[in-house]
Amino acid sequence: PKYQSVALILGVTGIVGNSLAEILPLSDTPGGPWKVYGVARRPRPQWNADHPIEYIQCDISDPEETLTKLGDLQDVTHLFYVTWANRATESENCEINGKMLKNVLDAVIPNSPNLQHISLQTGRKHYLGPSELHGKVAHDPPFHEDLPRLEAPNFYYTLEDITFKSVEQKEGLTWSIHRPGVIFGFSPYSMMNIIGTLCVYATICKHEGVPFKFPGTKEAWDHYSDVSDADLIAEQHIWAAVEPYAKNEAFNISNGDVFKWKHFWKVLAEQFEVENGGFDEGGEKMSLEEMMKDKGGVWDEIVREKGLQVTKLEEVGVWWFVDQILGDECKLDTMNKSKEHGFFGFRNSKSSLVSWIDKMKGYKIVS
Ligand code: NAD
Repeated sequence: PKYQSVALILGVTGIVGNSLAEILPLSDTPGGPWKVYGVARRPRPQWNADHPIEYIQCDISDPEETLTKLGDLQDVTHLFYVTWANRATESENCEINGKMLKNVLDAVIPNSPNLQHISLQTGRKHYLGPSELHGKVAHDPPFHEDLPRLEAPNFYYTLEDITFKSVEQKEGLTWSIHRPGVIFGFSPYSMMNIIGTLCVYATICKHEGVPFKFPGTKEAWDHYSDVSDADLIAEQHIWAAVEPYAKNEAFNISNGDVFKWKHFWKVLAEQFEVENGGFDEGGEKMSLEEMMKDKGGVWDEIVREKGLQVTKLEEVGVWWFVDQILGDECKLDTMNKSKEHGFFGFRNSKSSLVSWIDKMKGYKIVS
């Protein structure tokens, strides 16, 4: 056959979905040549359109639509699940996210006889607990994959359990689970994009002629942090899809280095030629959500003035997420298990930061 493997990416316009859509079709990608289907809820955006994939617009929270649009693909060999829904409480998250994954599996497993592997992305909240229990139930870091589940509701556990059950339906069907920390990547549609959000914040500070202040806490400013590069996560998904050693295992995925936000803040300020306001020792805790709530008009003006791609501030500025991440010290994980199983990928987080900023500018999301 022309293709060795056929991927179905759920969440293809997301922060990791967009990286998978870029990497999978390349001629030297392991397991290839890959044919790639990519699913997202909205029409295909311009910044995703260069990837040689078949784009399918489908709302996977709707079981009939999912069955209609995914049920007749029939040639899928690998499923990459990199999507989610965000609701007010964790029990609602369990319900909606469980439903979405189930809708997809119910459409694909019976209709794609060659399906071999399900690659599921969750995250470090596996060890930290849900946002609503922030700081109350977390394991002691550094986090490793053998830690027991926390005694708290968590939609990641729901997704895992649905996956474990569904692979039983088909002989030889395998799974892998990927647990990134905060992701550095590119997607103006992502529900959690720290670099995109900080780029937008810096652009607004520059436009208004005010210093670019660190909106977080001293712990986040001064202590070690780590992050997970979206391309690196995609590489781990693809590694697990083809490597027998990686089957039916969960893996942490982070860059393999540490950094301090006080150092990266300087990089950000330089990239946007804005005055580095740093961390205000004596000041009150800032809230980006509060500071940015009336800036929609300012953003529209910047977009017009600089000829940027038209975006809405509430889409590209995910303030709550950055307030949460920079509001606390980062809890680190370990990559030992991943390395012991043969995945040696890493990223230099500073280079990663700069290259994603360049991409944001290159696609004219910010300037
Ligand atoms: P994302 O928010 O960047 O992208 C989500 C994608 O799913 C988009 O393409 C969106 O269009 C699509 N989508 C959303 N609802 C849909 C629906 N009903 N039907 C079809 N498509 C739909 O996603 P992400 O951040 O990569 O999240 C994947 C997993 O990674 C989640 O479990 C998340 O918690 C976890 N995670 C994310 C981060 C981060 O920094 N973004 C960090 C750690 C863990």
